[in-house]
Amino acid sequence: MAFEPLPSGSRIGILGGGQLGRMLALAAARLGMRCHVYEPAADPCAAHVVERVTRAEYDDVAALRAFANSVDVITYEFENVPLAAIDAIADIAPVRPGRRALETAQDRLAEKDFLRATGLATAPYALVEDAATLDDALAEIGAPSILKTRRLGYDGKGQARIMALPDAAAAWKSMSGAPSVLEGFIDFKCEISVIAARGGDGSVVAFDPGENVHMDGILHTTTVPAAIKASTAQDAVLIAGRILNALDYVGVIGVELFVTRGGLVVNEFAPRVHNSGHWTQDSCLIDQFEQHVRAICGWPLGDGARHSDAVMTNLLGDDILGAADMRGTAVHVYGKPDPRPGRKMGHATLITPRG
Ligand code: AMP
Repeated sequence: MAFEPLPSGSRIGILGGGQLGRMLALAAARLGMRCHVYEPAADPCAAHVVERVTRAEYDDVAALRAFANSVDVITYEFENVPLAAIDAIADIAPVRPGRRALETAQDRLAEKDFLRATGLATAPYALVEDAATLDDALAEIGAPSILKTRRLGYDGKGQARIMALPDAAAAWKSMSGAPSVLEGFIDFKCEISVIAARGGDGSVVAFDPGENVHMDGILHTTTVPAAIKASTAQDAVLIAGRILNALDYVGVIGVELFVTRGGLVVNEFAPRVHNSGHWTQDSCLIDQFEQHVRAICGWPLGDGARHSDAVMTNLLGDDILGAADMRGTAVHVYGKPDPRPGRKMGHATLITPRG
């Protein structure tokens, strides 16, 4: 159902204080909104650019409720916010996107069941809870396959490849007993993602699909446009729209897909702004962060049009030390103090006139 737009000057609560929260807050500030970040860790990088910060755990109900009482709308920049935290505050201020998107995205099994029920293709999958169910799952799905924890996996963490059946025992051991899902290995031509948004009035818009290259399980580059057929790009956008509508979603979503000879296969979706959408900051009039703020505040969405081609490269760990010299690109530095190897410290986007 449509809701009244929030005026500039309204307050947005953001659960999570990482770089996505920081860039959301920067976009919100441009629209005259004020942000309040809730984050358990010390010195989150979003805190450097917002009006207020609450440092408290996600099970601190008093702190959560005080936070909710200080804002007009609540969003999250991190999909592993415990559902109990959402339940503790949902009666105070609207949470957008809603609980259902979070609940579905937090559990790979629920996510895949939802995608299948929505009529979308996924990798073949089966639940694994112990060595015996892994044997059953392997009998059904075979190798090569990938074992992934149901919950709390990210950037390729909580995953083990089973190239041949003898790898199975070691793969299960590496899950440390965590309930998991065995996925058939998809022989993809390339990986793409669609960043799309749904407004409070149910309107859906999408940015052009980007082509993603991962290194060591972490996104390395996103290139736009993706080297795919126009019909494939259109199919990808339609898939994102189906997911948004099925979840009655409000906000920006990131949908990751495999392009295969047989068509598109959905890998997963993130119920938030997404690393593979950072290119929109420098190639679109309205980027994914502003689009999300517009959606959750009930403002009309931008059209997602792209004025430039883009290659976005993540700056991991020490890569960030070269940021000052990257004058040919749009450099975004997250302000995190400790450039540990593999840590997302910033990104650089090379833009060229639209081809
Ligand atoms: P995920 O954490 O599920 O996004 O997986 C991280 C990366 O592993 C993906 O971006 C793919 O490159 C690869 N991957 C994940 N699942 C599969 C699959 N079923 N088949 C082939 N590659 C996969």
